[in-house]
Amino acid sequence: MTVEKSVQCSFCGRNKQDTEILIAGSSAHICNSCIEQAYNIVEQDVKSSTKTSEEFTLLKPLEIKNHLDDFVIGQDFAKKVLSVAVYNHYKRISQVNTSDSDVEIEKSNIIMVGRTGTGKTLLARSIAKLLNVPFCIADATVLTEAGYVGEDVESILSRLLQSADYDVEKAKKGIVFIDEIDKVARKSDNPSITRDVSGEGVQQAMLKLLEGTIVNVPPQGGRKHPDQKMIALDTKDILFISGGAFDGVEKHIAARLNTRAIGFKANKDNQVDDSNFLKYISPQDLKTFGLIPELIGRMPIVTYLNPLDRNALKLILTEPKNAITKQYIKLFDLDGVTLSFDKKAIDLIVDKALEFELGARGLRSICEAVMLDAMYNFPSDNSKKELLISSSYVKKELNKLEAQTLKVA
Ligand code: ADP
Repeated sequence: MTVEKSVQCSFCGRNKQDTEILIAGSSAHICNSCIEQAYNIVEQDVKSSTKTSEEFTLLKPLEIKNHLDDFVIGQDFAKKVLSVAVYNHYKRISQVNTSDSDVEIEKSNIIMVGRTGTGKTLLARSIAKLLNVPFCIADATVLTEAGYVGEDVESILSRLLQSADYDVEKAKKGIVFIDEIDKVARKSDNPSITRDVSGEGVQQAMLKLLEGTIVNVPPQGGRKHPDQKMIALDTKDILFISGGAFDGVEKHIAARLNTRAIGFKANKDNQVDDSNFLKYISPQDLKTFGLIPELIGRMPIVTYLNPLDRNALKLILTEPKNAITKQYIKLFDLDGVTLSFDKKAIDLIVDKALEFELGARGLRSICEAVMLDAMYNFPSDNSKKELLISSSYVKKELNKLEAQTLKVA
């Protein structure tokens, strides 16, 4: 249908000459950019309303723990606490609509305390994968109160929606891992009257989200913007698991235990294992560290992760289903090369990781450094079909790296 020169788009008011295409209907016109915008709105709406959610898998605590054992080395206590908490959480969700009793099971979000690289994120991710629920990681350090530069607390949920492929029903039962929750701690125990952008304000902003509220989420993330179409998401069934290293919390724990231990010293059963104070962590210590009591109250399950010792690091390199060495073996296998690691080479890599004090995180970067040359050369060299990583090979590669870093420095 042809259109007169003076006509306008009935939606945005642009004149015909300002549009690429203007289509006429029986009593209105629409331009190409309005069609595009309308298409995006319809697409998002269809995605969020017509998808049927697949059911998540409700497993018993023992089954959850057994599954975690395949992927996460050690951390038995944290696995047990998480398995029970997650089981109860999903049991609560699945009974909410059927139960007519007056007893309402409250939501129990979780805090995990443990040094970096000890498996906090891995635990949360593994559970979500096992239960087949959407999962996302939010970094507490980039969160700010609404109105400040940074990400709004609600933006966490955009990522969850994305991971649920915009299926709102599915996202409502997802798991959010809030990393570095210790970084939003109040700097001093003194509540200040001035606003605190990075600390207490963010904690306050998180309260409603953790407890359960309907949040209007910008589907594409980022800052809310007045013309944006929002998706309403109820957070009451979302499980929030937060993790942090809480550097220095040991001294608060020790101080608390010391004061309490007076008068008990004679009793051997009350002796404190001072090699790992984290195992005595309590909500009270988190408060002394700088989390506000309201936030602690909304994450009532507190557990800890042990530092990884030499043996645990060795096992992490070789044992889990997707252990780092198994991944390299597979990568080389895809090029027809048989890769193997000598025991002494593993010992040496572990020694280096212990030196770096980055937990299991160090293992990956050390392995990358050790394997770089081989990964670079082998794919182009058809004559070599085998590679044994020995301790001398590890030493040679790490020395090369050190020399290079020194040069850069
Ligand atoms: P964080 O405690 O800092 O969240 P992560 O869970 O991100 O640590 O661990 C970093 C990496 O180290 C993981 O991807 C995983 O490969 C490895 N890792 C850490 N802890 C363990 C563990 N207990 N068992 C197996 N792998 C682990």
